[in-house]
Amino acid sequence: MSDVKLTSVQKYYAAFHALRDIDLTIQPGEFVVMVGPSGCGKSTLLKSIAGLSDITSGRIEIAGRDVTRTDPGERGIAMVFQSYALYPHMSVAQNMGFGLKIMKRPRAEIDAAVRAAAEILRITDVLDKKPGQLSGGQRQRVAIGRAITRRPDVFLFDEPLSNLDAALRTQMRVELATLHKRLGATMIYVTHDQVEAMTMADRIVVLRAGRIEQVGAPLELYRNPVNHFVASFLGAPRMNFFEGRLRDLSAGATLEVPGLPEVTIPALAADHGLRPGNRVTLGLRPEHMRIDGRGVTTPATLRLAEELGRESVLYADAGALRTTGSDTGTESVTLLLGAGTPPPEGSTLQIGFDPADAYL
Ligand code: ATP
Repeated sequence: MSDVKLTSVQKYYAAFHALRDIDLTIQPGEFVVMVGPSGCGKSTLLKSIAGLSDITSGRIEIAGRDVTRTDPGERGIAMVFQSYALYPHMSVAQNMGFGLKIMKRPRAEIDAAVRAAAEILRITDVLDKKPGQLSGGQRQRVAIGRAITRRPDVFLFDEPLSNLDAALRTQMRVELATLHKRLGATMIYVTHDQVEAMTMADRIVVLRAGRIEQVGAPLELYRNPVNHFVASFLGAPRMNFFEGRLRDLSAGATLEVPGLPEVTIPALAADHGLRPGNRVTLGLRPEHMRIDGRGVTTPATLRLAEELGRESVLYADAGALRTTGSDTGTESVTLLLGAGTPPPEGSTLQIGFDPADAYL
């Protein structure tokens, strides 16, 4: 088990600043997930740790050793790629043992390591097959098996499940989490998928345009996002945002939002230097919206209801109350309700929320 420490890491691709002053310490045995929109630098950061991409300045330490200029093969890491990167002409067993063979380990040791990894990953029955004869899920297991046999200090995963179908992804997600517990190894995992991030991570690192926006345990980020970006990035369906104006700060924060009665958010974590008259954004998670007439309410028309069995997602049009920057391309308010039949489409609802659940 090893820690990974990044200090003031900067990366330029020619004039393009891809990583900006990254400081991050990953604890031994920790499962850290990097998330962020396409192009934010997740893969660049992972490749920098792996040594597949040179950083422009800063320092990378693995297990207390400065590896900034060390070759990838000497860093004690193993990387699992989205594309699996298996050798097509080699059998599964040869693929899995290849790293050890390169290290000139004895044959018996290689065989034992391959067998042990294959048992963990339940692929002993395909050891003699070629990658082309395997399903996507099996190939991904072989790629993970190849990493395990090398017994790295640190596992690096670059979107390893993104080529699998939804059911297999869920299964592999559970298997990877189990594998992490079993091996106790340090794992750094890049994904687009926020369900993977929320369920597997000890800590999530949210990146945006080469910078770290926030680092924390999944629920910490979900409950206390430091800014609009993190709030909008984590949580599905996405948080609703409404533009308004701050009226008063004498007791919590009192806001005027077009289409809503006056709202007073009881306690602010920080006042961010706000002054009455400032423009502000009110954030409300769909799961905090209600239709039972309680809290701050406003009338709305139900435009669409998606019944998912366990829950329903409702999209409601609420007159002057308009969301900004929604994923749906409309200004409808999104509500997430528990099990039960949603009201019929076209009906009038009193949508509402408890101000204590609101974000500013
Ligand atoms: P995605 O989620 O789409 O894989 P990412 O967050 O992993 O994206 P990176 O692949 O790290 O993003 O790329 C970060 C930025 O650096 C992008 O804007 C990309 O265009 C740029 N970039 C990446 N590799 C190179 C390269 N070899 N040369 C020039 N620019 C690059």
